[in-house]
Amino acid sequence: MGIYLDYNASAPIDPRVLSVMIDTYQNHFGNADSRTHAFGDDVRILIEQARKQVAELLNVDSGEIIFTSGATESNNLAVLGLRDYGEKHNRKHIITSRMEHKAILEATRHLENAGFVVQYINPENNGRIDVEKILSSVQPDTLLVSLMHVNNETGIIQPVAEIGSVLAKKGIIFHVDATQSCGKLIDEIKQLNYDLMSISAHKMHGPQGIGALVMKKKKYKYPPVSPIMFGGGQEHGMRPGTLPAALICGFGEACQIAMNAAAADLEHCREIKIRLVELLKSSGVNYVVNGAEEYCIPSTINLSFSGVSSEALMLATKQYCGVSNGSACSTRSYNQSHVLSAMHLPDDRIESAIRISWGRETDLESFTKEFSNLLQTVKEFQ
Ligand code: PMP
Repeated sequence: MGIYLDYNASAPIDPRVLSVMIDTYQNHFGNADSRTHAFGDDVRILIEQARKQVAELLNVDSGEIIFTSGATESNNLAVLGLRDYGEKHNRKHIITSRMEHKAILEATRHLENAGFVVQYINPENNGRIDVEKILSSVQPDTLLVSLMHVNNETGIIQPVAEIGSVLAKKGIIFHVDATQSCGKLIDEIKQLNYDLMSISAHKMHGPQGIGALVMKKKKYKYPPVSPIMFGGGQEHGMRPGTLPAALICGFGEACQIAMNAAAADLEHCREIKIRLVELLKSSGVNYVVNGAEEYCIPSTINLSFSGVSSEALMLATKQYCGVSNGSACSTRSYNQSHVLSAMHLPDDRIESAIRISWGRETDLESFTKEFSNLLQTVKEFQ
């Protein structure tokens, strides 16, 4: 199938994670909420250990971790879960950006239909949000600011540290979608000032179908999020349902591995990006990088090859190169990237944009071979 270069859509599971999961499925199959026998106790202990591993990676309390099915659910819980509080306290103003994941944009749209006012800020041409544009939009009734840490399409790191520290002083709830930075920018995340944070295990070599919403306590109080699902009261009543022990233990293991491996992973990703840029420069193809390189995470690049439709290029290279264009991780059909549009890039540049993302298992030699092949195809098209 060639080389996989779509880590931002989903990263391959680490074999160590998989073996923890297999062991859990085979040997720890009870329901963590069964209080009447040791099979339940056994699973409960494992889940709490995994919760500690997740919490340690983020430097939060394990009581602040709410397990969900992934960042889509966490984003929905963060936004929709604030509805009751916003209505009760007449704080119905929300600030977000136009380049957020659809799980934020569709959830805020839902609140707009319920009478909330949502202000959507465009990123600059370089793919970054302007701190001042966010802060100057704050109003007395602003309930929530929701921004991503790293954009999934461009890899651009957003100034959420600066924004978070100002919002904290103003008492505004700050939600960070850290799906693309969790397990990668591990020191930066620990320094952030936020109330709610979404993460997803499969973007960091854990299993698909598990993630978390981090609910940071301030002055002993959790953010005023109400549940959006109802049931057996698990996860402090925030997210009911039988806890998926194997997924959670796999997530914990992925976090444990990231704690030890993140620095080496980043270095490895940097090496690949250096090679990628060398190959690009020496290829003679006509290209432009979307988003300012100085702010880009080492594991992602978004490129436009002039005059080459991304759809045609991906079709031609499908057998040996697994890359994507803008919207590949939200649907199977092609829609113009809302992220690149929000950056006000011209249509032809958007239509020719591809996203390449890599990680821990990407082999430099195979990468060199297949990326060179891709560039050769681009040359033929140009
Ligand atoms: N937020 C961001 C920034 C993402 O990249 C993704 C995944 N593409 C999500 C949220 C949703 O994550 P999941 O599909 O795991 O629910």
